[in-house]
Amino acid sequence: MNKYVFLSAMLSAALLFISCGEKKASSSLNAMDTFMTIQVYGKKPDEALEKTRQLIYQIERNISTTNEASDVYRLNHGEKIAVSNDTLTLTKYGLDFAKQTDGVFNPALYPVTSAWGFTTGDYKVPSQNQIEKLLPLTDYTKIQIDGSSINLEDGMALDFGAIGKGYTGDEVIKLLKDNGIKSALLDLGGNIQALGKKADGTEWNIGIKSPWTGKAAASIKISDKAVITSGGYERFFTADDGHNYIHIFDGKTGRPVDNGIAGVTIIAESGLYADALSTTMFVMGLEDAASYWRHHSDFEMIIFTENQDLYYTEGLDGKLQLLADFASVNVIQK
Ligand code: ADP
Ligand code: MG
Repeated sequence: MNKYVFLSAMLSAALLFISCGEKKASSSLNAMDTFMTIQVYGKKPDEALEKTRQLIYQIERNISTTNEASDVYRLNHGEKIAVSNDTLTLTKYGLDFAKQTDGVFNPALYPVTSAWGFTTGDYKVPSQNQIEKLLPLTDYTKIQIDGSSINLEDGMALDFGAIGKGYTGDEVIKLLKDNGIKSALLDLGGNIQALGKKADGTEWNIGIKSPWTGKAAASIKISDKAVITSGGYERFFTADDGHNYIHIFDGKTGRPVDNGIAGVTIIAESGLYADALSTTMFVMGLEDAASYWRHHSDFEMIIFTENQDLYYTEGLDGKLQLLADFASVNVIQK
């Protein structure tokens, strides 16, 4: 069974006086199949943190693919239901993004990713015949939204694995702002989102994990931004043929992406957008990702290849600090 369903929570609230009644509090929890840590600075940080935890659990309850009571589970099991605002927003966003990227991003790949065992951990390489039978079930253009109701054809299924954490980060930041918090750092399973600057007024220094060593390969200073990574190394299995199959899929072939990319990090204002992009740019591969970036001026991107080459967009020039050796370092220019 997928860990996603378990809401085992660990609260570790550390309180520290800073100045003018501002305090720091932090909390960790297991949700959305990952480990999350939230640091908050402000007048009533522990209160804001408790609300944050409830919000994360609420979103998880709505969009989990394994919790039988969730909207997504019920939709995926043939129910035609009116859904929560979280599910509706993610469905609309996911479908818009799919249209905009001609299906490179596809929130309806679950039938295929399941066949490979990524939804259960019971990994296997399906036959070409089996994949071809499943591909029509991933046709996102057939998904209908009517008010707050979503209609999936039999056998189709939604999966917000690629955007759920980014969406959650944005919702948490809204909640923290509404609660008077001006400074916070979220780490939602490696998805980093910053509200404001650090309490001392300097920017947050965010490490970007090396796909090879797991240590920081680079770092970047940010405020009010999301730094979101898709890594092939995060979840994969090695099959009997010796090949590594990763959890990021090419929806056209129904197979895990195998295009020489090891990891993509996106820096943007919105977590939802950055999360959608990190997965999409990974699937597109180096050339198409660079071309997409040239047509969209609202994000920056770092790409690690399997050959240990580093590529980054020119907006990061002078901002990115390199902490590892690379086979080559390249700037993607407009
Ligand atoms: P992570 O889960 O490591 O944060 P991503 O944000 O890239 O990484 O999300 C990967 C997840 O997105 C997969 O586990 C799967 O559920 C889903 N997914 C895989 N391929 C695609 C795709 N082409 N479009 C949309 N979602 C995808
Ligand atoms: Mg993503």
